[in-house]
Amino acid sequence: MAGMDFTLTEENEMIRATARQFAEEELAPLAVKMDREEKYDPRVTRLLGDHGYMGMEIAEEHGGSNLGAVNLAIALEEVNRVCASSGVTMSVQNGLVNGPINKFGTPEQKAKYLPRLTNAEWMGAYCLSEPVSGSDAAAMVSFGEDHGDHFVLNGTKRFITSGLHADLYVLFSRTDRSAKPSRGITAFIVERAFPGVKVGKKEKKTGLRGSDTVDIILDGARVPRENVLGEVNNGFKIAMDTLDAGRVGIAAQAVGIAQAALDAAVKYAQARQQFGEPIANFQMIQWKIADMATRVEAARLLTYRAACLKEKRLPHGKEASMAKLFASETANFCADEAVQVHGGYGYVGEFPVERYFRDARITEIYEGTSEIQRLVISRAVLK
Ligand SMILES: Cc1cc2nc3c(=O)[nH]c(=O)nc-3n(C[C@H](O)[C@H](O)[C@H](O)COP(=O)(O)OP(=O)(O)OC[C@H]3O[C@@H](n4cnc5c(N)ncnc54)[C@H](O)[C@@H]3O)c2cc1C
Repeated sequence: MAGMDFTLTEENEMIRATARQFAEEELAPLAVKMDREEKYDPRVTRLLGDHGYMGMEIAEEHGGSNLGAVNLAIALEEVNRVCASSGVTMSVQNGLVNGPINKFGTPEQKAKYLPRLTNAEWMGAYCLSEPVSGSDAAAMVSFGEDHGDHFVLNGTKRFITSGLHADLYVLFSRTDRSAKPSRGITAFIVERAFPGVKVGKKEKKTGLRGSDTVDIILDGARVPRENVLGEVNNGFKIAMDTLDAGRVGIAAQAVGIAQAALDAAVKYAQARQQFGEPIANFQMIQWKIADMATRVEAARLLTYRAACLKEKRLPHGKEASMAKLFASETANFCADEAVQVHGGYGYVGEFPVERYFRDARITEIYEGTSEIQRLVISRAVLK
């Protein structure tokens, strides 16, 4: 009788090993530089594209590697273990941009856009949030007026990851003010080059400083009708479905940051001597390591399970929210404990744990705050 198997396949192990080597050799120097300079280095897009990390769930005919959601989660974990800014870039491109175009796009849209995204010639961004609408995304006020063969969009999209360098936006706007909020929103594929699309202010952030977060301004942006993604006024479903998938990516990001914090704490605890012996000999430090290691493992299992369901095209909304909630809290717990294990050296810039601590914080906020994840989970459990 076939039992439950918690081991990774040879392919999974190979993906992990190659992603780890890639991240440590190619991304590590950029991670420190981007964090210090507080700006994205476009070489990251090129590197991720050249190594095949920008189209992991897309079929070969559209330039992807078709490796599936579990391999994507493993690769994301490894990239984020080294650089969370590169990690969010990769997660957004795979989950929030390729994902909805692949699932809801017409054959023409897929043929036109996916090859450019999967080979990283183009960078993508996902534009849902607005100044007045965050958790309550359906309350957005940007508006797309129907002019027959094209729409004219006006409004501001806020906090857009990768927005500064993106060539393409999967973007949501209200198109019917009389309908119930969630029934009057349309998804568009908006090219940066379309007239009336502008980049606004760039945010100064606590962490994830190597990822640019900007406003995207729609100033009479002209979007051809053929760039409607899915059906007119049915875009909110696409937004929510995309977030279910994207949350698996953020869960993997959080597992990666948590593992980095654990690895750093172990290394430091074995090297640092106080009272004549390594601090790893002290039981209170050992407890911290044990708690961190256990939570990382639990977060990883929840993440792989959600990824597994996604790969099998089974419902995974609740599981993705559970993974995202638990993994993001784990990343923050581990980063906090890792700083503690480093003592004063954890609070200054000399060791990477200070960056992990700042980077971990966002995982509890974007793609749905922890409060919103608890709402999604409790609704599914109580229904
Ligand atoms: C660095 C960064 C990158 C981002 N990238 C993107 C991106 O690429 N694309 C994009 O569209 N958006 C992006 N966002 C936006 C992000 O998704 C939102 O910030 C997030 O969804 C929360 O919205 P808000 O900031 O408006 O907070 P609010 O929704 O105003 O929430 C404020 C507080 O109230 C709580 N709250 C709200 N409603 C409820 C409720 N019903 N029950 C209990 N508590 C509640 C929240 O949990 C939170 O604690 C990004 C944000 C940041 C900071």
